[in-house]
Formats: sequence, structure tokens, C-alpha cells
Amino acid sequence: MKITGTRSHVLRYEMDEELGYSQQYYPARTAHLVEVSIDEGPTGWGECFGTGPIALANKTIVEQVLQPMVLGRDPLAREAIWQHCYNMMCDHGQKGMPLYCLLAGPTRTRIPDLADAFHDEAAAIREAGFAATKMKVGPGSVADIELATAVRDGVGDGFRFAVDANHCYTTPDALTVGRALDDLGAYWFEEPVAPEDRAGYTELRAKLKTTIAGGEAEFTRYGRRDLLAAMPDMPGGLHPWEPILEFDTTPNRFRDDMLSDPLDIQGQVKRSGGFVDLPGGPGLGVRPDPAFLDHYRIA
Ligand SMILES: [Mg+2]
Repeated sequence: MKITGTRSHVLRYEMDEELGYSQQYYPARTAHLVEVSIDEGPTGWGECFGTGPIALANKTIVEQVLQPMVLGRDPLAREAIWQHCYNMMCDHGQKGMPLYCLLAGPTRTRIPDLADAFHDEAAAIREAGFAATKMKVGPGSVADIELATAVRDGVGDGFRFAVDANHCYTTPDALTVGRALDDLGAYWFEEPVAPEDRAGYTELRAKLKTTIAGGEAEFTRYGRRDLLAAMPDMPGGLHPWEPILEFDTTPNRFRDDMLSDPLDIQGQVKRSGGFVDLPGGPGLGVRPDPAFLDHYRIA
């Protein structure tokens, strides 16, 4: 069995309403699927991380740099292939995110509108049957506390809500927001400071009651190894922490309409009280619809 080729599918569509987080606003959805063909057996599918124009740059890397490294290899030798590709590229940069064009945060006059929107959206998520919700922050520590308060009001007491800062704070600002989150009973505080600021994470962990989350901007086993070495075992007991499927509830055709057999996560959550079934097919258990890819492909 041999790998005979890879093909990138970069997809894009303009959204009806732009979305944002602490680093930028963006008007379009993009996705980068990578199809791996072999001489016998099924086609494999993967998703390449990187949004917007980054997907176009990654397409070139996948096709011009990585593809020659995997052609003719046994697809079952997954670990050996990964090590080969990693070693061949490790001298050319394994860390560092592309520097997006940072946009100014929303003006102060938008905060009341955002607070109302956050309140109503959080309430709708609870009403839809989800077991928890997560919000983005970023306009600034004072405004972010207003937004978090609006979300708590929207979901009511006793419902879990987490806060994702996408590493937008200094440690003092993160402490200010984190102490407010302590009072609001937030479930976790995600990426409060820069991924490289391990001392900041340690300080926040020591001074806040709210659980600190991080590691989203680390890549490969090497990037995460130090963080995992520092992590205690998951607690056991009669009521252990259950793994949570994080689900973006904003409109997304790539999530809802791309698959030949859509997952209907929202419908499952509504019907089951917050749970979803694992796809039972081979591999990932899902198959992209070729006609959908043709319709949205830009490269
Ligand atoms: Mg995050």
C-alpha cells in the first residue's frame, strides 16, 4: 500500500455578519481540507490549521514541500512519516504564528450593544440544550468584565460558562479580569496571557480560583510536553470531570453542510440533553460531500 498523492481543498464563503475575537474581526469562513490518496483502499481526509490567506500559503507548503516527502510511503507508517516530515522541516521554523493584521478593538460605544448580544446569545445557548457555554473577550479588561457579567446574567446561576481571551492580556490585566471571573463563578479562563509567558500562567494559577486553560497556541508533542508534565492527573471519583466537546454556535456552512451525512450537532444536543454520539464510520467517521467542495473551492 502506497500514498499516491495529496490534494488541498481551500474553501471560502462570505458570512452574513463578521465575527471576531481578541485579535481580529473576520468577514469570511475559510477551511483547508487535505485529501490523501493511496493505491488501494479508501481516501483519507485531514484538516490543515490556518485560516484566511494563511490557508493559501499552507496549501503551497502541503503540495510543494510535504507531498514529495510522503509520496510512495506506506500510509500505515504514520509515526515514521510524521517524524520524517518533522525532521525535514525543523530547521525552517516550527513555532511562531503568522502575524495577522491586528485591528483596533471595538469602540467604547459598541460595548453596550455587545453586552446585550452576549447576554441574549448565552441565554439562547442554554435554551438550546448545551451543557455549558464559552465566550470570547478582548475589548479591554473593564469592558470584558461587563461582557462576562452579561453572560452570567444570560445563563443564570449554576450554568457553566468559560472565557477565552486568546492571549490578549498582560498578567496584571488578566488578574483583574480573573478576579471578576472568580466572583462570577466562571468555569475556566482560557489563554489569558501570551503562550510564551509561562511565568504569567504560573502566577495566575496561584492567585485565581478559576481554572486556567492554555496550550492552544502550542504545536506538536514537543510544544505541549512541558505543559503536560506540569499537569496533575484528572481527578477520579463518583463525579469526575467529563470531557467537553467545544462547539462554536455561530453560523458555519463548513461545519453544518460539508459532510455527505451531516452530524447535526445542534439537533443531537437538543434531543439528548447536551450529548453527541461519536460517528461510527471508518476512520474519522465522516466524508466530505464532493459537490460541496466544488462549490466553495477557491484554490
Ligand atoms: Mg481558545
